[in-house]
Amino acid sequence: MNEDNLPPIDVHVHLIGNGLAGSGCRLRMRWWHAPFLQMMAWDIGLKISSADPRFDAAYVARLRQWLGQSSLGAVVLLASDETYSVHGEKRSDLTALYVPNEYVFEVCRSDRRLLPGISIHPARADALAELDRGVERGAALLKLLPCTHMVDPNDRRYLRFWERMAELGLPLLAHTGGEFSLPNYRPDLQTPACLQLPLECGVKVIAAHCGSRALPWDHDYFGVFRRMQDQYPNLYGDLAALSQPAHLSTLAQLRKAPIRILHGTDYPVVTSAVWSRLRGWLDRATLQRIRAERNPLERKVELTRALGFPDRVFREAWSVLRRG
Ligand SMILES: [Zn+2]
Repeated sequence: MNEDNLPPIDVHVHLIGNGLAGSGCRLRMRWWHAPFLQMMAWDIGLKISSADPRFDAAYVARLRQWLGQSSLGAVVLLASDETYSVHGEKRSDLTALYVPNEYVFEVCRSDRRLLPGISIHPARADALAELDRGVERGAALLKLLPCTHMVDPNDRRYLRFWERMAELGLPLLAHTGGEFSLPNYRPDLQTPACLQLPLECGVKVIAAHCGSRALPWDHDYFGVFRRMQDQYPNLYGDLAALSQPAHLSTLAQLRKAPIRILHGTDYPVVTSAVWSRLRGWLDRATLQRIRAERNPLERKVELTRALGFPDRVFREAWSVLRRG
């Protein structure tokens, strides 16, 4: 496929909601998240409390507005399933963020530039049926956070699920590395090494954040990610969230060899250019230009370009995503 004529794409944008007006979402944050939530809300220009029934609609309206004013042609909008036990029992008590596939489809129907990213815990009794249904309705990828959803992708109980994903040509976007915003029930599943089974089944896997740290004292799995990329041509990484001090060593290595790397923001996570400036990667004028950009989607596009990533990182996703 010739990707040159296709518009830039952001593969990692979150849909969030409190469900108070019927979206079906649930959001349960710890008290220490409040200041960070506030910062994100301010950054994306949302002046409404996350406990307000109008929040869900305002979040979508704001996102569509930013997208319309950006140079992006599309973004993948992500669902987030409930946490389940390996035996398939739903653990709503452990689910901090629930965004149903149904709601993602509903929002994406209103705008062709929003591509649905579904989320299905493979331990669910109806996992395979839901997977087929999601693909029929136009899913572009499937998102999971192994450490938060408590999914060990290497568990052979999920073999059929990965095989079906490979058959359907649906890629897996899996969180790797440190996780800051959501609970880490299985920190042992932060390593990209847990993605071996789906990779061997032939699923195209995007390791979100390339195994990077979230906080300076986190373990860094970037080396594991790179070694696995040598072994698996179907392993990709994304740039989502990568702009903070804990990410600089990963960014330094990615800049040198941007192999199968896809652009993404992790919206509404805040993108900051100041650390790249302190590292000497940006001149002052570039820093000022990026800081002056109010549009959070476009700010990340500008940072990705200013860090010298090739144009390919904005378009390669078109050959990875399932296109209905
Ligand atoms: Zn994310």
